[in-house]
Amino acid sequence: MPYNPTNRPARIIDAHLHFQPKNPHFDAIAHTAGHENTVRHVEQTYRDLSIAHGVVMGNREMTTEWHTYPPMLSFCAGIHQHALDPGNSAAALEACEVQLTNPQCVGIKLYAGYCALPLMDKAYIPYYELAERYSKPVAIHMGVTASPYALLKFCHPLLIDEAAVRFPSVQFVMCHFGNPWLMDAAAVLEKNDNVAADLSGLLAGRVDLGEYRVRLHGYMDQLRTWIAYVERYDAFMFGTDWPLVNLDEYIQFVSELIPQEHWDAVFYGNARRVYQLSDLPG
Ligand SMILES: [Zn+2]
Repeated sequence: MPYNPTNRPARIIDAHLHFQPKNPHFDAIAHTAGHENTVRHVEQTYRDLSIAHGVVMGNREMTTEWHTYPPMLSFCAGIHQHALDPGNSAAALEACEVQLTNPQCVGIKLYAGYCALPLMDKAYIPYYELAERYSKPVAIHMGVTASPYALLKFCHPLLIDEAAVRFPSVQFVMCHFGNPWLMDAAAVLEKNDNVAADLSGLLAGRVDLGEYRVRLHGYMDQLRTWIAYVERYDAFMFGTDWPLVNLDEYIQFVSELIPQEHWDAVFYGNARRVYQLSDLPG
């Protein structure tokens, strides 16, 4: 289906971005994607592209001053390896609980793979219990990593299955649809109603979509195939992984993976429900 720019999702929530203004590393990545890493630029780009809200995956320290965001953004408290180390774990857990009382904090983010622990490790269990108590989702990095030092065996989507079974009242989010383990990711989503997936990070940098559609048609077909196989369009959420991609191009890319009758759910409604963004229009 050729993309028609006049026919695009009318409203969007970006269910997965990273946001660190004044960080030179982020500045460089944003530039590569044709963007600027500033609050003003994100606000303007969101307005231009009808993105009503974004959910930041927290990369920073857990302290409150690290988590100040403009009103168009919410965030998930990010749990990194140092927070899981035995010497730090009690304090980190306490700090995470403080974050969950902040109305702008809409969930917990685990960095599986970047953290060298299986998802059912005892270090993670208190975070599932915390999510249960506060009725907040747990988003988990799944699939290929940006760092060569991460370990893929800890971010295979099949690992979410056991967490989802042991904590049936917790809403899990499989980030990046476990890419490229799409078949396994689809099995986990099909089986577990309490697992959703975000469609962020499926591209990086700038792409010429016309050329990409031809060169990587097999990859795009695989994405379409396994998303359709799950038969749960209430379980997929648009996300960008900003500053990794050009937002305009990425909206086009994802809209080609999702049948148009499900655009409003995938681009907007599902993220509003999963991250409980009840201030946004339903
Ligand atoms: Zn990310």
